[in-house]
Order: sequence, then structure tokens, then C-alpha cells
Amino acid sequence: MKHQACLGLVLILWSTGLCRVHLSLSSHEQVTLTQKPNLGLIKDKFLKRFFSTLIIFLTTILALPAQAAVILQYHHIDKNTPASTSTTPELFAEHMKWLNDNGFQVVPLTVITDKLKRQEPLPDKTVAITFDDAYVSIYKNALPVMEAYNFPFTIFINTQAVDQRHQHTLTWKQLNELGKKGATLANHTVYHDHVVERLPNEQQAEWVKRIKDELQMAEERIKEQTGQSHKLIAWPFGETAPELEQMIRENGYIGFGQQSGAVGLLSNPAKLPRYPLGAGYGAMKNFPLKMQSLPLPVTDVQPASDIAPQNGIIGPITLKLAKGEWVISQVACYALGRTLDIAWQNKEKTELEVVMPDQLPLGRSRVNCTAPGPEGRWFWFSKDWVRLTKDGKAID
Ligand SMILES: [Zn+2]
Repeated sequence: MKHQACLGLVLILWSTGLCRVHLSLSSHEQVTLTQKPNLGLIKDKFLKRFFSTLIIFLTTILALPAQAAVILQYHHIDKNTPASTSTTPELFAEHMKWLNDNGFQVVPLTVITDKLKRQEPLPDKTVAITFDDAYVSIYKNALPVMEAYNFPFTIFINTQAVDQRHQHTLTWKQLNELGKKGATLANHTVYHDHVVERLPNEQQAEWVKRIKDELQMAEERIKEQTGQSHKLIAWPFGETAPELEQMIRENGYIGFGQQSGAVGLLSNPAKLPRYPLGAGYGAMKNFPLKMQSLPLPVTDVQPASDIAPQNGIIGPITLKLAKGEWVISQVACYALGRTLDIAWQNKEKTELEVVMPDQLPLGRSRVNCTAPGPEGRWFWFSKDWVRLTKDGKAID
């Protein structure tokens, strides 16, 4: 909106004939004004020009997209389930109320993924709600709240848990009922294993084929039981690997991780960010900040693989940024509870390097980078890595 307000001021000045404008939308800082008074023109044409300019300005406001959407990730909505994967029904109701009161458009997840596939702008204040693991508390505790607001939602189903009627898991009958109410029913693998783990002596091609077959099995099972097939996959534990990402791209799937951040047109469609809102991550104090976040336009991150070296020493991490409307000098990155020193790699400040302050512990670690954006909003990017044990096992 800062961009739009500035553009508005420029257009209104132009409408009065007091100045001529050279305006470059691709570089916000390049807007310049040149004085050229012409009082006669003001007198004769002011009204006509003002109203035509106002129309241009309003059209421009409506046409300038924020190109951002936010995806929420929940597991249990219950106070009697494990805290690490639970959001209390009271807090969940507060989240939904806040979204409703603040004019957010809660859309089916497929609305966001369809726009990404077509590289169409995402309207500002677009949100999708997702639940992983198909827990029964969605039905008991979350559904009544979402129905009250008419909010659509997605459930990522690990099919074996439903087939084997695990405790706390929805049945196919309940999932079908939710599907008839408009829920999107999507893929969370069959077994809910760590897909980054290989079997003993498993070669790369065998591993990729095994995961591909599992994803297909889950997709077919969900279709058989509910009639739905969207080719949307939430990676269990949020972890994946470049080889698996390439495989799902080749097979027409969109993937979702558990790294925080907003979704934009530059986001990796094989591992889109979602805000985890279980445990302490759902606290109301930070909820508005997350919902209003914007995607830091990262075009490349290295090392790209989610799998950290076995010794946990990851080396320099580089991020390439597209030019954008943020104060570049204020980009800050955080990891392992510390603020990282940023080394800019070029004069234009489109490439930065950070170094982890320590070796990564076993399990998952992440680097978060943020920069101040318009209207007190924040650009946000997160990249996660998993360090496997010596035996190649991931830790939950
Ligand atoms: Zn899961």
C-alpha cells in the first residue's frame, strides 16, 4: 500500500498539471517529479483531469496485487492430545474469529495452487486452512467453528492410519461427510514415514521410485474412498529432498512443507510454506504478524537439499533475492536461536550469505530471514534442513 499511496500522490499531482512524472513501477525508488507549472491548464482542465486520474488511481490500486497467500497448518484441535501437535479448541476459535474480523478470504487450497500453476497474482489477505494426519478432533472441535464462518479447509490424509482405524483418526465415513461439506481431501502418503530415509542398501533410483509408488497408492486410495484426487501432497514432518521434489514436479503434484512463510509466485511449488500453529506456535500474540506476512522473493537458496551433511556442518548458505519493495539493508536472518551476520555478495544487494553459528543438531533446523515491508508487514522466508543419524534415520 505504501507503493500505492505514493503512486496515488504522484497521480493526483499529475492531475493538477503541477508536475510531470517519470514513473517506473519496477523500481519503487526511481519515482521522480519535475516541476512544470501551467496555471491556465489547471483552470480549464482541472476537473476533467482530476476525475480521469482518480479512476486510473483506483484501477491501479485494485490491479496491484500483493501476490501473497498464507497457509495454516494444524494437527489436533484438542486439549487432551500431545501438546507438540495440538492447538486448543479455544485458540483455534480465536484464530478463526481473527481471520473473519479482519477481512481475510479463506479459500480452498486448490484456489491458491491453481493460481500458482498459472502464475496469476494472489489477492491480498488470501488464506487456506489445512490439517495434517486426519485426526478426529477436526470433526469434533474444528468443524463447527469453520462452518459458522463458512470457511473451507483441507485434510491431508495418511491413508494407512484411516484404513487401520488408528485412535484419534477419522474414518472414511467421516472423511466422506467432510468432503460433502466441501473439505478438500489430499495426500499425506500411506505410511507417514520420513521420506528422506532410505532402506538398507537402497539406491537413489529405487528410493525415488518407492516414494513415487507410495504417493500414487495414497492418491488412489483417497480417490477410491472419497472420489477426490487433487495431486496435493503434504510431506510428513515437512521434510523432502531435491530428488523427490523433482519426481513430484514430473508427476504433476504440488507439495507442502512445514516451514513458515507466505506463499508467492516465486515459492517452490514442490514444498510450499505453511505456518505450523500447534504447540506454542499458534499464540495469538504473533498470529496477526504471520497472517499478514509477505513472501520474501527468494529466487534461489543453496544448499538446496533438505538433508544436511552427516556431521551437521552446513557451510555458507546463500540466498538470491529478486528486487522488491522492501528495505534491503534491514534483511535479518536467524538460526539456532541466534541472529546471523549477513554478508552481501554484490552491490545491488540481491545475493546474501550467512553462516550457521554452530553445527546443526540431529533432527530439523531452519534459517528464517525477514525484512520490513509496507504497512508494518514483514517479508518472510524459511528454509529447513534435517540432519540424519549415522544410520540415516530422521528424528521425529
Ligand atoms: Zn503428518
